[in-house]
Amino acid sequence: MSAWSDRASRRIAASSVDLAGRVLRRSTKLAGYAMTDLEHELAEPQKHCDVSGCPATALRGGTRCFQHAAKDDLYYAVARFRAGEPLDARNTTISPELLATLRDALTDSDQEPSPAEATLSTLALMSITTPYGDEAQRDAYTALAANHKLPFAAVFFSGATFTGDADFGGLTFPARADFRNAVFEGTANFRYATFNGRTDFRGAVFHCEANLSRTTFNNRGAEFSRAIFHEDTDFVESSINYGVNYNHTTFEGAAEFTDTYFGGEVSFNDATISDDAVFLKVLFSAEAYFGRTAFSSGAHFHDTIFHDTAQFIDVAFSGDTYFEGVTFNEGAEFAGTTFGRHIDFSGADFRGDAGFGSATFDRARRLGPLVVDGRLVLDDCFFGDRINIEVAAIVMSARAAIFASGASLRVRWAEIAMDGADFGRASTLSGATTWRLESDLGPVCIADSRHITLEPRPRLITIRGAHVTALSLSDVDLSACRFFGAHGLESLSIETNCRWPHTPPRSGHLDRETIAEEHHRRGMSWHDGATQAPQWLASRDGNEALHFAQIAALYRALRKSREEDKDEAGASDLYYGEMEMRRHHAATTRVRRGRVRALSDLAVLTLYWAGSGYGLKASRSLVTLALIIAITSVGLRFYGFKTDPTYTRALLYSIESTSGLFRMPNASGLEISYAGEFIQIVLRLLGPLLIGLSLLALRARVKR
Ligand SMILES: [Zn+2]
Repeated sequence: MSAWSDRASRRIAASSVDLAGRVLRRSTKLAGYAMTDLEHELAEPQKHCDVSGCPATALRGGTRCFQHAAKDDLYYAVARFRAGEPLDARNTTISPELLATLRDALTDSDQEPSPAEATLSTLALMSITTPYGDEAQRDAYTALAANHKLPFAAVFFSGATFTGDADFGGLTFPARADFRNAVFEGTANFRYATFNGRTDFRGAVFHCEANLSRTTFNNRGAEFSRAIFHEDTDFVESSINYGVNYNHTTFEGAAEFTDTYFGGEVSFNDATISDDAVFLKVLFSAEAYFGRTAFSSGAHFHDTIFHDTAQFIDVAFSGDTYFEGVTFNEGAEFAGTTFGRHIDFSGADFRGDAGFGSATFDRARRLGPLVVDGRLVLDDCFFGDRINIEVAAIVMSARAAIFASGASLRVRWAEIAMDGADFGRASTLSGATTWRLESDLGPVCIADSRHITLEPRPRLITIRGAHVTALSLSDVDLSACRFFGAHGLESLSIETNCRWPHTPPRSGHLDRETIAEEHHRRGMSWHDGATQAPQWLASRDGNEALHFAQIAALYRALRKSREEDKDEAGASDLYYGEMEMRRHHAATTRVRRGRVRALSDLAVLTLYWAGSGYGLKASRSLVTLALIIAITSVGLRFYGFKTDPTYTRALLYSIESTSGLFRMPNASGLEISYAGEFIQIVLRLLGPLLIGLSLLALRARVKR
């Protein structure tokens, strides 16, 4: 306590020097007395008023309280207060008449007011002229307050009951102001009041309106915890320059904080605001905590600025909620929060992460457009109504999010993880090619080992385990997308403007669209930065590559989906991938049982691959056919006939054999040997097959 008061004394003394040097010099000693002695004194056991049933503190040196004291005793008490003694009105019932008496006693002084005196004079003068409507009056108060600004006079109204309207408007409380558990039965007016000392309204009950607009709190530790405001509360344009607590505070009427300035940490943990909570254009310059706060009606945070962390954890927004144009300079956390009705986050600017993990959006239809210069976390969120999300972000994670009525997600820049997400109804994820907000992110270089730069087209990096039957993707980069374990891949709709990873260039592999899982499996030169998952995903997803058979199954499912979309060219690329994976699977299978089968699979697949590119490469089929003709014609030339034909004759015979399944080639003048007949049969089978495959391949390429 002494450390605090010393610091406070120094601070207040320092700040007061310029204002009223002369008065201050005279009062410095007094100040020292006032601070230390009063704190000490009030820590002593309270001496009660001796009127039966009166809980109030007796006046010092007397037996009765302010309420019950004789007029002379009251006069002496006031005189002592003028001399710097604290005003101790604990548990006192203060009627409007008592307040008036105090005013009279204090205002007829003809001497230069002492510090404490002036404070109460100010109180008195301020109290007379209500309400404070216009600017001229405000200036008058300010001037008056400045003239009578005096350093140390603590007031103790803890437990006091103000039976009428309590008017402290314009008053400067130079030292501690203690209103703990005070009861205001009429209106409480603190307009333009200045609290320079520790201010404590813990547990105070305001039965009528409480007006704290344009108040200034200059010292730390303004406390409103567990206070109850039964009617509207007004903090409009107040400057709360240090920390303030509203923990467990109950606002039964509207709570108005428009244009309020919070210079220190603010806490509304467990507070309840039953009517509209208005935080328009508020400036929170330090941390703001809204833990488990209940906003039973509208919550308005338009154009508010949070300079530091903003936490809205487990908050219940039961009414419409507005965060439009809000700036969160250090990100914001809405974990576990429930948004019961309409929300508006349009133009919200998160410089840092936007955490909505486990949040519930019961009836919200739209989230955004907003900018998140960090991670937008929608993990485990529940969206009851069809939601329209529009966001520019670095990362968007919607792991295990439930979009019960479908979603329309328009995303810009972000790497998107939607593992385990559930799209209950028709949903789309698309790149936001146009952007209607003024603020946007720029090309972002991801600072990890992958060395990639984000483009406006978002990168979907995982839908593992997601229910994607009803999902369609448009203008999304799938270079690093993990599909494994997704349900309903066959029905996933992928538009042709999506980007697939390709086989690495100049690797000798056919250029085709692939999936990242194949790159991962193949490793090395295949698995470049573009197809790699970010490290943060690997930490929740594991970093193990799939087996070839699993990748083949993914290719099969995705191929079906693309066939369904009539994307034949894309489907054939995926078919190629599927067959490649099957071939590699056959080549790498080491099971003892079924070895023969695996080997025959391998042989067939290898021949199919080498001979025709799985029926997708027309040129390869034709080249193979030409090779076979060339080889067989050499065979025919030397072993095919009993006579000795020219090489050209053998070649012609070979070509004719390939082109006719049933028609015998023209062999006039030649006598065919057994070997020749055998070669001919092979040619008559392989020829049409390869020609057929090349025709199919051509068709697949042309057809869209
Ligand atoms: Zn009494």
